[in-house]
Amino acid sequence: MSRRRVSIFGATGSIGQNTIDLIDRNPDQYDVVALTGASNITQLAKDAVRLKAQVAVTAHDHLLPDLRAALAGSDVEAAAGQVALAEAASRPADWVMSAIVGAAGLRPGLNALDQGATLALANKESLVCAGGLILQTAKENNADILPVDSEHSAIFQALVGEDMAAVERIIITASGGAFRDWPMDELANATLEQASAHPNWAMGQRITIDSASMFNKAMEVIETHEYFDVSADQIEVLVHPESMIHALVGFNDGAMMAHVGPPDMRHAIGYALHWPNRQKLPVERLDLAKIGSFTFRAPDEVRWPALRLAREVMARGGLAGAIFNAAKETALDGFISDALKFTQMAQVVDQTLSQMDAVGGHIDDTMTLDNVLHVDHLSRKTAQQIITDL
Ligand code: NAD
Ligand code: MG
Repeated sequence: MSRRRVSIFGATGSIGQNTIDLIDRNPDQYDVVALTGASNITQLAKDAVRLKAQVAVTAHDHLLPDLRAALAGSDVEAAAGQVALAEAASRPADWVMSAIVGAAGLRPGLNALDQGATLALANKESLVCAGGLILQTAKENNADILPVDSEHSAIFQALVGEDMAAVERIIITASGGAFRDWPMDELANATLEQASAHPNWAMGQRITIDSASMFNKAMEVIETHEYFDVSADQIEVLVHPESMIHALVGFNDGAMMAHVGPPDMRHAIGYALHWPNRQKLPVERLDLAKIGSFTFRAPDEVRWPALRLAREVMARGGLAGAIFNAAKETALDGFISDALKFTQMAQVVDQTLSQMDAVGGHIDDTMTLDNVLHVDHLSRKTAQQIITDL
């Protein structure tokens, strides 16, 4: 089998490290082109040297001397900053993992598609803020996008060989996050430490907090709407605390196809890495008799207003997703820096959506990269002002 050229964006994060774990098991099958990170220079350099990457890139310009020092004596090039990230994404590769967190992942993802690479997309923010643009860019370059979110990989797999016209509904499951059973009146006082502990999944801090607030599921509903091109009213969220069934697809003959597996992202990453084939993966095999039962409940939109906001975004269309994502990222920064209470995050996103729609006029601008980045910038400023005024 010929070696495949792979790049990993966000290589030092949770998804990035799980991707490297899989690559490390069969190093002879891959030529690593680019690995990128942000602050964790030691990890980035260590992996780049071991995997013999062409180039290692940090997002932070000021860390270039540190990266150079860490790579001294190796053949790996060192680079830093946004331009270097974009350049690295444009280097020819067959398969690119997009696992930067936040809207910062949008431009590298587009550059990878522009050069025709298969894009393994963990960076859900790029679908939320610019779904139409990402899908159009893939189409123009005859490039594939493979979902790397457990729910979306599950849906993708349940749809193999099926006709979309027969799909009635798509159900994505949610663990309910850290506060699923908390009394409502205690949510406002949830601490950063409490919100950063997920009951089932080991993930980066931002997505873990987004799971507790359900903003993660809200983004995943939009991601489903964009990627699978199904209408908002065909998408349902189901709370399933065990996190073993990741999604279900309901067909017009009443059948539902469920995807079952342990909560381990190496399954979704490995599926995207080996697609359209399946290969043996190092994930736990479930013993259903031992597990005994799965439970389900309907989501409570009062507890989790993020789910209602996702529906408003889909109904509004245009660049509403870019506003939503930027406001959410700013509100999350606010919670992490102790400027906001946990429950105020949804309030900030709600108000930013209303204000941007009322005053900006930009929500109906064409979805180009420049317009998305402009709206992203304005929405962050608006959200920041709302936080200051609270
Ligand atoms: P993480 O915080 O663990 O890692 C983020 C990566 O992005 C790191 O390599 C970091 O250096 C890099 N990064 C951060 N800010 C950057 C910036 N401004 N510019 C360039 N690089 C930057 O996050 P994660 O949990 O691995 O999540 C990555 C993406 O995958 C997110 O979009 C998340 O929603 C999605 N995702 C994650 C999981 C999971 O299990 N962790 C599951 C589904 C989807
Ligand atoms: Mg998910």
